Amino acid sequence: MSHANLLDDALTRLDEAAAHLNVDPDVIEKLKFARETTKVRLMIRMDDGARKSFIAWRCRYDDTRGPTKGGIRFHPSATVDEVETLAFWMTFKCAVMNLPYGGGKGAVQVDPRALSKSELERLSRAYMQAFARIIGPDRDIPAPDVYTNAMIMGWMADEYAQIVGRAEPAVITGKPLALGGSLGRNDATARGGYYLVQHLAGDLGLNRPMRVVIQGFGNAGQYMAQLLAADGHKIVGASDSSGAVGCASGLDVDALLAAKAAGRSLVSTIGHGGHETLTPEALIGLGCDLLVPAALENMIDESNAATVKAKLILELANGPVTPEADAILAKKGAIVLPDILANAGGVTVSYFEWVQSRQGYYWTLEEIHERLRSTMEREGRAVWNIAHDKNVSMRTAAYVHALGRLAEAIEAHGTQSFFVS
Ligand code: NAD
Repeated sequence: MSHANLLDDALTRLDEAAAHLNVDPDVIEKLKFARETTKVRLMIRMDDGARKSFIAWRCRYDDTRGPTKGGIRFHPSATVDEVETLAFWMTFKCAVMNLPYGGGKGAVQVDPRALSKSELERLSRAYMQAFARIIGPDRDIPAPDVYTNAMIMGWMADEYAQIVGRAEPAVITGKPLALGGSLGRNDATARGGYYLVQHLAGDLGLNRPMRVVIQGFGNAGQYMAQLLAADGHKIVGASDSSGAVGCASGLDVDALLAAKAAGRSLVSTIGHGGHETLTPEALIGLGCDLLVPAALENMIDESNAATVKAKLILELANGPVTPEADAILAKKGAIVLPDILANAGGVTVSYFEWVQSRQGYYWTLEEIHERLRSTMEREGRAVWNIAHDKNVSMRTAAYVHALGRLAEAIEAHGTQSFFVS
């Protein structure tokens, strides 16, 4: 997939939001560029004795509202444009949720499935060695993203502790529970999206049970399938990078989860309980109430948006719908609950983990769920109200909500009119 112009696409959202707010030009000047992007080559010893290098980045996009926060992605097609775009989205996501953070992101251009477990550990530790000087609990706090997980966060936290000579669990979130992680972090992204849909169900006129399609069956997609199935909804289609499966009467979610846990693809369940093969294109156009993109960017674009039948799209992935597709979906009357709100449950519980790691005092799962639910409902309702007051899409409303907070913080340092008057 080409990521050309991903940041340009993202910046169009900033312009759209700015048209609805009276922000100082200083604010746009500050937010249209990444503040700091560091590129390194990580060198590791492979199991066969050879040295191999991997390109890696860390971007701190904007830190006006607090230390930068954002995941680390291990993916063969990661690019600097993608990293800066993801960091831009994190800046707005943290502001939408009113978390005291700016936005950051990191990546290594690697196919982690081609590495042994020892090579993966060496690469993860090498990442922290390279970036320890710009990372820190009050500076920049990483977390998991695509193809990184709790164990990798644990290796990175350990490497950081060795470099600075003391335990610093708040340097990273998404850690294993036994290493200072938080209860409820594993399913937080999906759970936040699920709470949002539950909260707005009446306003959106959703049927029960809903017919749901989930694209991407990793951390976000699997937990979403579990939460919705447990609530009585039917998952009628799902996909991973190997292909898609469908079943009009509802897929057997336990069988899908068991296949992934055993390292098999979703396609391996074909034939079980009426599971049928679908093409990835057919999955997007499948008749359903709710479509959940939970894979990668640009999955719904001008080539397939017109085929979407869902009336509601919940963006658990970052940037799955292009601006062109947004316009096509809006014309069809479909509502998109945008990534910077819909998948913000992940960073919200990461924030809870950071608070707990700093205090050395850990909360119960009920406390985590209650705080996550109230945060999703409070900010989801605020975005819903802006969308209705200003007659704009939920995406534009989310950017307006975030930009208002970012502008207040940037303008608090003084603006051009303050300094020249
Ligand atoms: P993951 O690595 O656990 O899973 C990614 C899934 O996407 C895998 O099942 C993979 O097979 C699938 N996939 C890849 N290419 C695909 C394709 N072309 N078609 C269908 N499926 C494909 O990653 P994740 O953590 O679940 O992240 C998924 C998305 O959610 C990303 O956009 C990520 O940035 C976003 N997100 C994740 C979190 C989090 O806490 N994990 C938080 C916020 C946003």
